[in-house]
Amino acid sequence: MTAHAAGASRSLFSVAGLTTRYGAIDAVRAVDLEVGQGEIVAVLGPNGAGKSTILHSIMGLVRPAAGTIVFDGRDITALDTEGTVRLGVGLVPERRRLFKNLSVRDNLRLGAAARRGRGDKAADEQLLFELFPILRERMDQLAGFLSGGEAQQLAIARAIMGAPRLLLLDEPSLGLAPILVEAVFNLIQGLRGRGYTILIVEQNAYQVLEFADRAYILRNGRIAMQGTAQELREEDSLFSAYLGLGGSQPACDTAGAPAPGR
Ligand code: ATP
Repeated sequence: MTAHAAGASRSLFSVAGLTTRYGAIDAVRAVDLEVGQGEIVAVLGPNGAGKSTILHSIMGLVRPAAGTIVFDGRDITALDTEGTVRLGVGLVPERRRLFKNLSVRDNLRLGAAARRGRGDKAADEQLLFELFPILRERMDQLAGFLSGGEAQQLAIARAIMGAPRLLLLDEPSLGLAPILVEAVFNLIQGLRGRGYTILIVEQNAYQVLEFADRAYILRNGRIAMQGTAQELREEDSLFSAYLGLGGSQPACDTAGAPAPGR
């Protein structure tokens, strides 16, 4: 299995020996991961595996007990959330966390406050209208009245308006109907080749392995497997690694199992 960023892409972001605790619980244990410039890298795992905790540790929302987090050659382990955002790390949080009483336009404006002069704002607005045409129609609507799929689009669009150099996505498929999940994943794929570097955490393993470059499988806070998406798609033991079961593939309706949609 490939342990490092594929191809010749320069490492933009890495985590080494990350351990994060909540009281006596080790939610994340000795995790190493790397994201190359322009890559889409996934951290996949069932409920409670520690996926969000990795993202929260990166964003300075929770303090790691051990390990280092490096972004663009700089150690950001001890940096607070504001400092991390200022450097260009953008998070699309789980369950979106939109400003529901503000319009779509104002949510996007708030997202743009994180730009700090990076990138071309007009070009990013143009990209948003290309990728998310529905948001153009909804500009003056309150975010709280958007459908689940539209709200997820707005959450991603808001982060893009911050011109992130590294975009973190926390379970963007959560709570969405299957057809909307596919639409949101298509949008994420649409960011490929447009200069975005993406770290996505998801339960939806097989669908994400259709478009990610590489992935790490997280179980009980530890990396159980890693490789290119193609290697993992072809890996017979993915199900057992994912669920921590020995032997044969479990029933597909097991809670947290990767959707067998390939
Ligand atoms: P989910 O898909 O449910 O969000 P996850 O893989 O993102 O799962 P985490 O939310 O990172 O997992 O949780 C990892 C472990 O840490 C779980 O056992 C969870 O109960 C625990 N945990 C998460 N947040 C806290 C907290 N604030 N206080 C105490 N324990 C927590």
